[in-house]
Amino acid sequence: MTKGEKMQGNQLRYILLEVTDKCNFRCKHCRVEGWEQIKKPLTTKEILSLIDQAKERGVKTITFSGGEPLLRKDIIELITYNC
Ligand code: SF4
Repeated sequence: MTKGEKMQGNQLRYILLEVTDKCNFRCKHCRVEGWEQIKKPLTTKEILSLIDQAKERGVKTITFSGGEPLLRKDIIELITYNC
């Protein structure tokens, strides 16, 4: 089990997707400040594929995180996909 995954019994029910490392703020406590910028972020298609794979494995809840997820131009498509 990796960070952000939560198991219930033997069933994966929850995942956290960090969809961007970008953010307009620089909170002192945040790790984003020290991150090396991701050179090739996941595409919309790649994230939608991850969502499909998660649902196939029984995931019921996905949290979109970052960075600031609202900076992605495709965030509405991602959060409304396959609801
Ligand atoms: S990702 Fe959140 S905690 Fe980090 S700098 Fe941005 S607003 Fe602050």
